[in-house]
Amino acid sequence: MNRIAPDALGPTVTIGEILVEIMATSRGDGFLAPTTLAGPYPSGAPAIFIDQCARIGGSAGIVACVGDDDFGKLNVERLRRDGADVSAISVSPDYPTGSAFVRYREDGSRDFVYNIAKSAAALVSLTDEAKALFARAGHLHMMGTAFSIPSLWDVLEHALAVIKGRGGTISVDPNLRKELLNQGQTRARFARMLDAADLVLPSGDELETATGLGDEAAAVAALLARGVDEVVIKRGRMGSSLFAAGGARVDRPAFLVEEVDPTGAGDCFGGAYIACRRLGMPAEAALDYANAAGARNVTRQGPMEGAGTRAELEAFIATTPRVLS
Ligand code: ATP
Ligand code: MG
Repeated sequence: MNRIAPDALGPTVTIGEILVEIMATSRGDGFLAPTTLAGPYPSGAPAIFIDQCARIGGSAGIVACVGDDDFGKLNVERLRRDGADVSAISVSPDYPTGSAFVRYREDGSRDFVYNIAKSAAALVSLTDEAKALFARAGHLHMMGTAFSIPSLWDVLEHALAVIKGRGGTISVDPNLRKELLNQGQTRARFARMLDAADLVLPSGDELETATGLGDEAAAVAALLARGVDEVVIKRGRMGSSLFAAGGARVDRPAFLVEEVDPTGAGDCFGGAYIACRRLGMPAEAALDYANAAGARNVTRQGPMEGAGTRAELEAFIATTPRVLS
């Protein structure tokens, strides 16, 4: 059973930040002294998601805003090259494209310097182009990073009504830290996202954040009872699991790779999974492509540099051993 709307209904659409990422080439503590940097790399969780969705062959589009600068051009050209609909990416004449400087510490944690809230990324609005994209969309993918952009909620509400109204489906990647739930209207809005969702893709402690339940089985049951059709849990090196309404469960192992840069794994996973399901693939195969998309992406420096085409992911699956449980 696959109740996710088919690709033929119209593109998978997401809304949110487009950024460039500029990364320190060495590990260490933050940016308090000059250090060598690499970048700009195209980034932003919704952009990574939609790039992988398009690259694997799904119809895909994004509503976002960039500045009138090279960082913006770099992103728009990457998404266009990879087959995403970029018609609803607006260009601000006044604000620069969003950016994130990142440096890894020895223990794998990260220090960031962000410019999002005061950048073009925060200027997402319901333009005529965005309305037109929603009017032909078949699926909406909502991400917790949306809560970092206050103006975005009204755009999401519009998209939700229009896309549901035409028989489209909804997915949610919580991508949300527990502490953020207590800010403003976040808790109520997050609940609204979950109530609208056909598919939820949590990782780490996001299942608990979403449900308030620490036990995995109980949390999954709570989401399914809420009307979600599929809960897909991302488990990093442990692969992924699908829990479907009606009781079916599918577990698929991860691929054995050397992790170079973990950023973007979850977004590539989601983009591949949703595209594959919408293209009519059974859950097992979709999980394998999604695990491959996540794993391949962590082998490359840069948040979306390892996103794969269908042929690249098939070659990856054929030649990469799986993690044995
Ligand atoms: P992100 O860090 O981008 O937010 P996430 O926490 O949402 O990611 P993960 O579980 O880390 O999601 O990664 C998504 C999928 O990518 C995993 O289910 C797995 O299939 C694959 N993956 C991620 N990291 C690795 C790894 N080190 N080795 C193999 N596969 C990986
Ligand atoms: Mg995640």
